[in-house]
Amino acid sequence: MAVLDPCDNCGRPTPIYRLAAVILDGRVARLCPLCASTERERIEVPYAPRADQGAIQPSTARDVW
Ligand SMILES: [Zn+2]
Repeated sequence: MAVLDPCDNCGRPTPIYRLAAVILDGRVARLCPLCASTERERIEVPYAPRADQGAIQPSTARDVW
């Protein structure tokens, strides 16, 4: 059974392995996948969720805008 923990942003019970550790407003927070995508402009991700970041640089660059 997955262990549920509340999302630090919306409080939704989320399996721990799905919570993303991010920097939100300068503090460490764990966000559910939904918040991790909707709050993307507020969070700083200290590390990429996937290890193949160096190989592929998708068009998530901020210099688009
Ligand atoms: Zn959430």
